[in-house]
Amino acid sequence: MNLVLLGAPGAGKGTQAQGIKEAFGIPQIATGDILRAAVAAGTQVGLKAKSYMDRGELVPDIVVPIVAERLAQDDCRNGWLLDGFPRNAAQAGALEATIEEEGLAPIDRVVYLRVSADEVVRRISGRRVCSNAECGNTYHVEFMPPPADMKCGKCGGEVVQRDDDRPETVRARLETYGRETAELVERYPKQAVKLLSNLPI
Ligand code: AMP
Repeated sequence: MNLVLLGAPGAGKGTQAQGIKEAFGIPQIATGDILRAAVAAGTQVGLKAKSYMDRGELVPDIVVPIVAERLAQDDCRNGWLLDGFPRNAAQAGALEATIEEEGLAPIDRVVYLRVSADEVVRRISGRRVCSNAECGNTYHVEFMPPPADMKCGKCGGEVVQRDDDRPETVRARLETYGRETAELVERYPKQAVKLLSNLPI
């Protein structure tokens, strides 16, 4: 099963991905997680990505080859779940080209998380994450409060607010989503799109 998760920052892609990848036994490829790990490790990719991420903008050029390389790995043979990719028309086109050129199975479903703007802001502003890149467990101050000592219940890492979850950057990320990503859902055949929504249809 080859799946793409679409939705605004804070819509719940990471949360839904946990259940989906376990249900289908497929790897989750979360470009935001890959980039954050590169930033934490101080690699060339991380150094380039950081300034864009801090501004809430899409990181240009480097994400497509990262995803193409990842999809070619053995654990993706029986399917994959893309989380946070594609994020604009160029990336969607590059994904289609990679699938074609590498002879991969096509996308089966696009899971579209449509959440109101107010709810997105509420979810992002309350989100807290484990700072250990290998864990990355998420919490929410209202819905799933972190332990009082702010040590992750899974790994003991420090639980923090993501830099780009602060209000100034959230605004920019939502603008980027509206400008570049939101329209992508129209690109996929209606019968391939599974809508999960907290809004009236
Ligand atoms: P996320 O964790 O998916 O919210 O992503 C955090 C940040 O990483 C985004 O605001 C972008 O700066 C960057 N990013 C994640 N995925 C992509 C992508 N597919 N293309 C470009 N930048 C990305």
